[in-house]
Parts: sequence; structure tokens; C-alpha cells
Amino acid sequence: MKQIPCFKHEGSFILFIKVEKDKTEFVCDECCLDLQTKSVNVNYQELIHVKNALKSPEFFLSKLKISTPVQEYLIKLDKCNKQAMDNILEEFETKISQIQNILLEVQQELKNQVNCILEKKNKIRDELQKITQFDKFKQFAINFQQLGDNIKHEDIIQNEKILHQYLEDLTKNDCNELNQKLIDVLDRIKREPEDPNQEFYPQYRELERQFKSLNFSQAEFVQQFNLIYFVQVAIIYDGRLMSYYQQQKIMSILQSRLNKKVINFQQIYLGTRDGLNGQSFWSKVQGNTNLLMIFKSKSGYIFGGFSPCQWQQYVNAYVQDNTMSSFIFSQTHDQIYHLKEANKTQAIYCHQSYGPTFGAYDIYFGADFQSGSSNLGTSYQCDQYQIATKNTHLFGQTTPNIVECEIYQVKLC
Ligand SMILES: [Zn+2]
Repeated sequence: MKQIPCFKHEGSFILFIKVEKDKTEFVCDECCLDLQTKSVNVNYQELIHVKNALKSPEFFLSKLKISTPVQEYLIKLDKCNKQAMDNILEEFETKISQIQNILLEVQQELKNQVNCILEKKNKIRDELQKITQFDKFKQFAINFQQLGDNIKHEDIIQNEKILHQYLEDLTKNDCNELNQKLIDVLDRIKREPEDPNQEFYPQYRELERQFKSLNFSQAEFVQQFNLIYFVQVAIIYDGRLMSYYQQQKIMSILQSRLNKKVINFQQIYLGTRDGLNGQSFWSKVQGNTNLLMIFKSKSGYIFGGFSPCQWQQYVNAYVQDNTMSSFIFSQTHDQIYHLKEANKTQAIYCHQSYGPTFGAYDIYFGADFQSGSSNLGTSYQCDQYQIATKNTHLFGQTTPNIVECEIYQVKLC
């Protein structure tokens, strides 16, 4: 493509398209620097790289204000070119050929094990022969052999006596001594130092590990590019705050905790549209159950909570969740905090002069959605994550300072 000169900067060429509500501009790299020195925040994420946009409708569309799951999917699709696919295939081929090699090792390992077992058996057999004075036992057969074909009745009786004497000696005291000797010998052989690797089948373990890794990559691959699964999710949630990954996670928690299928997230409140304040909040949520709330703070932290409990403006009290399905989440940290059994009476708190409040103030917003605090870990479990500063963990600062809030009624069947 022919390079377009920047009319503001001689010698510079247009790199990006900058889209704003009321105008669209072509900008060069120096334009960006100018904007920065004027302390206008340049969000490179939002600039549309001209060359890439002309090449790829996926890339171009992903730069517009479309819903997050669609955007994330188009970004993936844009990066999914022949080269990237070849690389993925190559990684799989490497893994598979590693497994082929390890299979040969496993085969060798089993052969070695078989030899070891036979060796051990021989060792044990030697000991058994000593204990039983096996030669003595075999003597009757030798005796008969020496007699040739002329075996007489007396010979048989004679040998029966010898054998009986032998067996009496061997099994005296109800086999007590024999037993003890056998146990001692087996125990001694068991203690003999061996190659410690032998017992643990290291090659087989390695095969298991490599197969697990192949399995994981395959599952990841399927999920990443499976449009069918993606479309289901995108139809259920059309908001902007939750990532595609987060939605899948939230849906699977909801479905397993409530033992029902999620059919839709119906948006009932959007902060920037309906007003980020207690009055607007309560007018939309009043009397509703099964609400999923997603918040974004001024630090860009994304977090939220779900509760099946009913939100009632005037109860001025905690609401109990007997289903134990309430939880808080942090998308930023990729963490889930479930309601503690001992605190199930404090799933949410409803008060007309508060904003959304979960737990004994695990999340607490003032009516302005700016003031408030977080005592994460009080009613919701977070010990598993060893969080250093719980009061800033969700918000990114000590107060919520919410810039956006999406609230959905979760439709189940
Ligand atoms: Zn310029």
C-alpha cells in the first residue's frame, strides 16, 4: 500500500486510525507522542493499526466496541494463521514423537523388570533348597533310579520311611521352625539393596506425565478454536466486562452449584447507562433473585459476585443462603471465593443507603459506588490463596471507586 504522509509531521507516515465518538483521525507515531506530552492518555489497545486492519477484517472488527467474548474470539481468529497453526501442529508432533520414544523405553523397562523377577526367583529358590535340604528330598527319586527296573515292594516301603523321616524333621512343631526360616529368608531378600529406580517404573511414570501434557494441550486446542462452544457462551452473555474464559468458569460453577442449566444472563442494570448510584441500583435490583454482578474499579480491576438471595432495599439486614451457592470472584486474579458454611447467614446485606454488599462486608459499596471497603475472607473463603493485602485485593485500592457495573439475572432451567 502507498504510504500516507502525516500532514502534521513532515516525513512521518500514518500508522493508526484513532476512533472517537465524534471524529476519526489518521495518526502517525509522532502524533501519538504529541498526545502523550499533552498528557492525553494514548491507549494503544484502541488504536487501529492501518496495515493490519487492511489485511484482516477479524483484526479490524476486534478494535471496535463489540462485546468482549466476540472481541476475544476475533483476536484469536486473527492470530490463527497458517504459520501459527503449523507451529501448533509442530508442537503436537514433537510431543507425539517423544511419546513414541518413551514407549520403547517402557518396553525395555518391562523387559528389565521381568528379568529382575526371574533373578529374584532364582535367589529365593537357592535359599529354599538350603532350608529344605532339597537334595535329601530328591534322594528317594535317585534311590529308585539306582534300582533300575527291579523295584521291589520292600524298596518302596524303605523309601517311604526315609521320606517320612525327612518330612517329620522338616515340619516338626507344626512347621513352626520351617515357617520362621521362610519368613526370615524372604525378609532378608526383601531388604537387600536394589536399584531404587526399579520399583517405581520411572519410564512408565514419564509416559504418564507426557501423555497428561499431550492431553492438556489437546483440550486447550479444542477449546480455543471451538466456535460452537463459543457461540453458546456469547449468546448467553453479551456484556463487556467478563472475559470469555471467566464466563465459562462462572457458568460451570453456577451449573454445578445450583444443579441447573444456565440458559441466559439477562442484563437488568448497567452502571454507566442507568446511573452508578444506590438509588438507580435499588430501582433495578429490588425484589430480584439469582443476580450476577460484575464490577470494574478505577484501577481496572474486574471482580463481582453471585447470590441466589433476594435483594430487598428496605430489609436492612443480612440475607441467608441455604443453597450455599453464593460466591465472589476476581477476574483480575482468576480466583473464586465461596461462601463459608459458618457464615451462610451473611450471604448478602441489603440496606437502602448502601450499594451492592456481599458478606460481612467482603464487598461493601456506599451509595455513591465510590466509597466503601473490602474485608475479603470474612464471610467468603479466601485462605486457599494466601492473599497478602485483603482489603485492596478486589478493588486495586482500599475503596471501590467503581467505573462500571453490569448486573444480570441468571436464567436457569
Ligand atoms: Zn503525525
